[in-house]
Amino acid sequence: MLRVVIIKPSKYSLSGDVERFKRGFMPNSTVPYLRSMTPESIDGVPIETIAIDEYVQTDLGYLDLLRKPHVPTLLALVGVQSHQFHRSLDLAALARANGIHSIIGGPHVMTCDTADLHGRGISFALAEAETVWASILGDAVRGELQSAYGREQRWAPELSAPVLVPPSSRDLRRYLVPMLGIYPARGCPFTCNFCSVIKIAGRQIRSQSIETTMESLRTAKRAGVRLVMFTSDNFNKYSDAPELLEQMIKEKLHIPFFVQCDTQVARQEEFVSLLAQAGCFEIFVGVESFSRRTLLAAHKAQNHPATYEEIHKLCARHGVVSHFSNIIGFPDDTAASIREHLGVLRAMNPDVASFYILTPIPGTEQYDDFLAAGWITEMNLDRFDATTTTWRHPNLTYAELQDLLFECYRKFFSRRHILHTAIRTLRHRQPNAGFVPYFGQPLFSRISAKRRTHPMSGGIGKVRLDSDSDYRAMRRKRFGVDLVPLPKSLALSKADAELNRRVKIAI
Ligand code: SF4
Repeated sequence: MLRVVIIKPSKYSLSGDVERFKRGFMPNSTVPYLRSMTPESIDGVPIETIAIDEYVQTDLGYLDLLRKPHVPTLLALVGVQSHQFHRSLDLAALARANGIHSIIGGPHVMTCDTADLHGRGISFALAEAETVWASILGDAVRGELQSAYGREQRWAPELSAPVLVPPSSRDLRRYLVPMLGIYPARGCPFTCNFCSVIKIAGRQIRSQSIETTMESLRTAKRAGVRLVMFTSDNFNKYSDAPELLEQMIKEKLHIPFFVQCDTQVARQEEFVSLLAQAGCFEIFVGVESFSRRTLLAAHKAQNHPATYEEIHKLCARHGVVSHFSNIIGFPDDTAASIREHLGVLRAMNPDVASFYILTPIPGTEQYDDFLAAGWITEMNLDRFDATTTTWRHPNLTYAELQDLLFECYRKFFSRRHILHTAIRTLRHRQPNAGFVPYFGQPLFSRISAKRRTHPMSGGIGKVRLDSDSDYRAMRRKRFGVDLVPLPKSLALSKADAELNRRVKIAI
C-alpha cells in the first residue's frame, strides 16, 4: 500500500507562528483536484489518500503521519506560493527525516528557479499536475522519486481534469460556509507585469469539459457544499462559460457561486444577466488603480477607469455583489494619490473592496525588474503575500504604506456603507447564499482593519499551535539555509512560450 498525504501548506506569520484559523474563508482548489486525480491503486498497489488544508487544520494529528509513518508514504505539498515555500520545505524536511518521499509543487516551484535545492532528498514538480502526477505516483509506488518533474513543459495543452471528489462533511465544517473551489478554465490572455497567474497557468485559456464541471457541481451539492468559488481568473473570457451557465439554469442547480472577471465585463450585460440567473452572488474584478498612467506602466492596458462605474451598476442591476480589488503602492503612488484613489472608489460605491500592497511576486516580470533595479529589500519569502512591504518605495515608507492599507479598509467599510450595502444587496440576494457575502464579509473587513490584520488573510479565529522555531533546525540541516535566497525567475520552455505566442487579445 502507498499512503499519499496531500497538504496545502500554510505560511509563517510575522511572529513566526504557522497561520491557522478555526474557520476558513476561501477553500483551496488544488487539494481537492489532486485528491480527485489520485487513483485507488497503481500496478495493483492500493493507494490511500489523505488531504489537508493547513490553514484550517487545528488538529495536529496529521503531523504524526509524517513523524511515524507505518506504511510507505508520499508527501505532496501542493499549490505552494512563495510565501508558503519555507513552510513547505520544513514539512518536506520533517517527512524526509522519517523516510518519507516528498514532493513540492505549485506556483513558486513552477515559476522560480529552485535548482540549488534539488538533489537534497526532496523532489520538485515544475509543471501542472495533469502532466506529472501520474509519473510521480508511479515512481512513489516503486520507491524512487526523481529530483524534478516537468522541466520540459509547464502547461498541458489540453485539460483533462477529473470530476471532483468533494471534501468530507468534517472538512467542509472547517470553513465559515461549506464551500468548494472549482477551476473550469485556466490562463489569462493579458500581460499585467505584476501578475503570477500568467506565469503559473499561461496566457492561453484552457478549459475542462462542461460535463466535468457540471458533475463536480452536482456531486458537491449532494455532499453539502453550499457555496462554490469558480477560481478561474477571468470567467468572462472562458468561452464555454455561457453554455455552462445555461446548463446550471436548466438543471436548477441553485448553488450560489463567486466568479472573477476582468474589467471588460463592463461590456457584457447579457453575460452578467446569465451569471445572476445561474446563481452568481459576487463578481470580483481587479480594478487595481484609477490612474491610466499607472495601469499602462503595469501593462494593464485593458483596464479603463472610465468603465469601472458601469461594472458596479451592471452588478447592481442584476443583483450581484460587486467586489473591486485595489492595489496601493505602485511606484508612482504617494499618500495623496492613494487617498484620492480611495475618495473616487468611495464615491463609486462598489459593494465590497479589497486592498493589497503592491508586491513583486517572485517569478513575475515585475519581480525581475525590481530585483534588477536593486529595489527589493525584503529577503524573507514568507513576507511576499501582498499584505506587507517588500521593496523600497520611492515616496512612501513601510509604516506609511501599512497605515494607508488599513486606512483604506477602515474608511471604505464605514458603518454607513456596511448598512446601506446590506440593505441594497440583501433584497436581491441569491437564495441559499446566506448572509456572509452581503453583510458578514464587509463587517469582517471593518473589524479586521481596526485590529490591523488583513481581512483576506484566510479566516477567523486565529489559532497558535506551532511556529517556525519548531522546524528551523531541520531546514538548516537538510537545505543548509535559514532563509532561502531570493530566487531567479524560471524561463519558459520553448513549448510553453509557443502556447503563449498564439494568444491574441483586444485591449
Ligand atoms: S487580468 Fe488579472 S489574471 Fe490576467 S494578467 Fe492581469 S492581473 Fe493577471
